[in-house]
Amino acid sequence: MSQRPTLLIVDGHSMAFRAFFALPVENFATRTGQHTNGVFGFTSMLINVLRDEQPSHIAAAFDVSRQTFRKEKYPEYKEGRSATPDEFRGQIDITKEVLGALGITVLAEAGYEADDIIGSLATQAAIPVDVVTGDRDLFQLVDDATGVRVIYTGRGMSNLELLTDAVVVEKYKILPTQYADFAALRGDPSDGLPGVPGVGEKTAATLLAAHGDLAGIVAAAERGEGMSAGVRAKVLGAADYIAVAPKVVEVVRDLDLGAPDTRLTAPDPAAVEALAAAWSLGSSATRAAEAITARV
Ligand code: MN
Ligand code: MN
Repeated sequence: MSQRPTLLIVDGHSMAFRAFFALPVENFATRTGQHTNGVFGFTSMLINVLRDEQPSHIAAAFDVSRQTFRKEKYPEYKEGRSATPDEFRGQIDITKEVLGALGITVLAEAGYEADDIIGSLATQAAIPVDVVTGDRDLFQLVDDATGVRVIYTGRGMSNLELLTDAVVVEKYKILPTQYADFAALRGDPSDGLPGVPGVGEKTAATLLAAHGDLAGIVAAAERGEGMSAGVRAKVLGAADYIAVAPKVVEVVRDLDLGAPDTRLTAPDPAAVEALAAAWSLGSSATRAAEAITARV
């Protein structure tokens, strides 16, 4: 059992999707033609994170569909995204099956993103939290004071980056609590957020350092203080966007998830073996089960 209790929250869709692009799809398929590179890669990453972080508790969060409250607030949200590749079809369901056999709680909420489940779980947890994700939106959750860290999966599967307050400050020159306003200002093309035209990361960080948050920046722009005339015009010209964009980036932290039991529990080896055989997963699922069993 672990020396120090920690909750590991896995961003399921994000990690499976990273793995899908990191591993050659043609090398992972069942005889019936179901591709499994994302499942295999997800499981491999899970093994590595279990080994490195030694959590006592774990849960996985998934997106449900693209129809979320964010789309109602901001219809362009995630509009420009290309369709899910055909070869990825079915891999989320199989990933959830593997998690089920491993005894790992799987959470999803209609109308919300995994971001919101993770934000709520991390905020409500009584123990330190590590979030594994490839979604930069979750950098806003980083909080040394309550012990929330983000393990960011960059390109590939093995260069994981651990984010604390200091790392966020070093990377972006802002505090984690300013990340939603920062992302709204700068924009996020992958989420269909254009940002304030002409305001890049550097200006966004400078404005936030001077004025605290977006409300402070808008107030200063209205007074005509604390920024150049050019930046002022850009901020005032994007008032409608600024009024809605941070609410789209902000993660929900107060979902009622019914206090799920997230303690690591010993997986059923027979169920894991059966799934591994059914989906041609090789030894990855079994190794994940062994890594969990060693910790309970
Ligand atoms: Mn997400
Ligand atoms: Mn997101």
